[in-house]
Amino acid sequence: MPDVAVVGSGPNGLAAAAVMARAGLHVEVFEEAGTIGGGTRTSELMQPGYFHDVCSAVHPMALASPFFRDFELARRVELVVPELSFGSPLDGGRAALAYHSLERTVQGLGRDGQAYRKLMRPIVSRIDGVMDLTQHQLLRIPKDPVAAVIFGLGTLEQGTRLWNTRFREEFAPALLSGVAAHAVSHLPSLAAAGAGLMLNGLAHAQGWPIPVGGSASIAAALGDDIRAHGGVIHTDSPVEDLRELGGARATLVDVAPRGLLHIAGDGLPAKYRRSLESFRYGNGSCKVDYILSGPVPWAAPELADAGTVHVGGTRAELAHAENEVTAGRHPEHPYVLVAQPSRFDSGRAPAGHHVLWAYCHVPAGSTRDMGEVVTAQLERFAPGFRDLVMQTHVTTAAELGRYNRNYIGGDFSAGLMDVRGLLQRPVISTVPWRTPLRGVYLCSSSTPPGPGVTGMPGFYAAKYALKDMFGLDVPPLGL
Ligand SMILES: Cc1cc2nc3c(=O)[nH]c(=O)nc-3n(C[C@H](O)[C@H](O)[C@H](O)COP(=O)(O)OP(=O)(O)OC[C@H]3O[C@@H](n4cnc5c(N)ncnc54)[C@H](O)[C@@H]3O)c2cc1C
Repeated sequence: MPDVAVVGSGPNGLAAAAVMARAGLHVEVFEEAGTIGGGTRTSELMQPGYFHDVCSAVHPMALASPFFRDFELARRVELVVPELSFGSPLDGGRAALAYHSLERTVQGLGRDGQAYRKLMRPIVSRIDGVMDLTQHQLLRIPKDPVAAVIFGLGTLEQGTRLWNTRFREEFAPALLSGVAAHAVSHLPSLAAAGAGLMLNGLAHAQGWPIPVGGSASIAAALGDDIRAHGGVIHTDSPVEDLRELGGARATLVDVAPRGLLHIAGDGLPAKYRRSLESFRYGNGSCKVDYILSGPVPWAAPELADAGTVHVGGTRAELAHAENEVTAGRHPEHPYVLVAQPSRFDSGRAPAGHHVLWAYCHVPAGSTRDMGEVVTAQLERFAPGFRDLVMQTHVTTAAELGRYNRNYIGGDFSAGLMDVRGLLQRPVISTVPWRTPLRGVYLCSSSTPPGPGVTGMPGFYAAKYALKDMFGLDVPPLGL
């Protein structure tokens, strides 16, 4: 038996395994799917030669997460950083554009440029403090209290009905809501505003990278490092009961609370079990992947250079679409997150052709195929889009839940993203990665700091497992 068993090979399970293996421990990873990666897999979903990111595609945290920085991800994986981080098309061939450069962004925002600069400049200039605040659990004293206050005030403004007070036009609000809506939450809300301002700050501070070869490159870099340090990775190896891993001194589980209930079952104390049973999951997503015979014919041509496009129109339209989902309804005109990976990574599709990655939010557990609705939204802002579609692949929220059992009902955040869901992830504790079972640590995005390809939940779980079970500190992670 290994010193350390890791259940699940999402980016957090792999991050945890890499930290433990680098500490000189013998690590074995057990993944139920045929390939590693969890939410970081890239696959020829429809035809050979067309590589689609099954889940994550754009990685704002690849350069910013403290774990990936220490791991020197940027030296192991080629990351392309589009100068145009993201954009939001508006009717009439217009678009709000968020460049890597804050000043360039400000220039395009007309009368709201100054107001946008005043909101974003303090966050961008204190981005390390903002990352310290948001990439840890919230129950602690932040290292940069000034950054915390600036970020908190911005969140209070953009997360409440005050959100339009500083703006007079449509562009800046559409830009901010487009990124806040990543949180799959009510708009406006504090959780969405916080997530949005953090991601927006990163867009201006260092951009939103796209890994060459797709998100699977990140999983591969982690997997290679684990093996280079003597670790063993077993695929096609579901773990249904923790007792199967009997001899390991530490077990790190990259599973949702429901998964922990399943594999630890009766072994868990009743109070903790009840907390896991009452853990709240969020709404789902319906993924739509396309093969296109050419680039998207955006009515606003600048969007051709955007890594990510938030499709759905004005702030009011985006809020209506997202609030339909929180009310349990399928929006007629959804907010659609679109990424254009083959624009930046030519190896993803044969010359002249493109892969397009899109998804929209839907009520939890939805079985509805949103392919046509998503295509209609794209056609609205890119007339002629439909004519370029060679093939489409739809994954409903219910299917996403079957693809990865952490995505309950298609909730790929593995837990509702509201203020309570951020504090209680999955329990309120200063060390929420520890479970009451000695040697068992939860390392999935159901623990702080939550979803996204950050490696941080895995890093924290490993840090406490090393300390508690082996009396070790985190080893250097760089090459
Ligand atoms: C459609 C979609 C788009 C996304 N877009 C982005 C994006 O652009 N950028 C971004 O940063 N994030 C994005 N995400 C979110 C990101 O993918 C997740 O937050 C991240 O993958 C969570 O990592 P994790 O390690 O916690 O869990 P996961 O990646 O979900 O991995 C968990 C792994 O554990 C395995 N497992 C579970 N139970 C068991 C068991 N009992 N035995 C063995 N194995 C088990 C699963 O098979 C899976 O491989 C997206 C997700 C989806 C679905």
